[in-house]
Amino acid sequence: MKNVTFPDGITVPALGMGTWNLGDDEARRDAEIRSIRMGLDAGLRVVDTAEMYGSGRSERLVGQAIAGRRDDVYLVDKVLPSNASRDGVRKACAASLKLLGTDHLDLYLLHWRGSIPLEETVAGFEDLKRAGMIRAWGVSNFDVDDMRELARIHTPDPCCANQILYSLDYRGVEYDLLAHDRAQGIVTMAYSPLGQGGELLRAPVLKRVAARHETSLGPATPAQVALAWVLRQPGVLAIPKAGSPAHQRENMAAVELELTKADLAEIDDAIPPPRRKVSLAMI
Ligand code: NDP
Repeated sequence: MKNVTFPDGITVPALGMGTWNLGDDEARRDAEIRSIRMGLDAGLRVVDTAEMYGSGRSERLVGQAIAGRRDDVYLVDKVLPSNASRDGVRKACAASLKLLGTDHLDLYLLHWRGSIPLEETVAGFEDLKRAGMIRAWGVSNFDVDDMRELARIHTPDPCCANQILYSLDYRGVEYDLLAHDRAQGIVTMAYSPLGQGGELLRAPVLKRVAARHETSLGPATPAQVALAWVLRQPGVLAIPKAGSPAHQRENMAAVELELTKADLAEIDDAIPPPRRKVSLAMI
């Protein structure tokens, strides 16, 4: 499987697992936990959550899914901008660790920019790192200007990741942000890579490309093509959310797909890349 390496030298598989909305529906809970465990059993490592997701329901479910196997996981969590003061990040992180049933996060991200100065949030992250509560820090929903501003802050440790909306529905970041982050060695974590399971997966071009490919599970699917398309970018880690073992299995098999030049050209014809700056979209 393709890997990505963070600026601090940690390498993980480029396919991870999102968890937004997991834990919201009691009837789906068992399947959701099995889905995460299946991913870990198969060698996936990155699990992405946030204090915002279900006001802690996602973190609690992740804690249950990874209980007894913390070392298998590269655990990513996100702090709300309203909690991103120097003291606030410590309190928020402590609350998240409790729900997750662990004593450290592998990566802690500022969920999006708010009104608290970046310097203060980063100082809070560095405090957490010194205290052993996090191993690394990064940001989310930062456009090029935000990343430049962040780069001007002197920090002992590098920003390791920028988690952004990137899918065939939202190609704007191909104009500048992907290359900017790559040049700094910062990993792009692509969120909602399946277009949240909506219209994108019914796009005729994805159906046509899928029809030309197979995986070990059988004929390829539009979801697998959408994922393989995101994963084709170097330095990009995709974090689709799979609420069932069946979806997890299908998503993992997407790493077997090698899209050809002809596939990529056909996709570009149907969904063209950006020709000018597009402000970063967020969900
Ligand atoms: P995704 O693009 O990952 O889509 C998830 C949807 O696709 C779910 O409805 C899921 O259904 C469905 N799905 C999953 N696998 C398949 C498949 N193989 N075939 C068909 N449908 C499938 O959207 P998300 O918004 O969840 O994004 C992924 C993750 O990114 C989030 O869970 C979260 O961790 C992170 N994120 C971060 C944000 C940020 O601001 N930093 C914002 C948004 C997301 P089912 O549940 O039934 O499997």
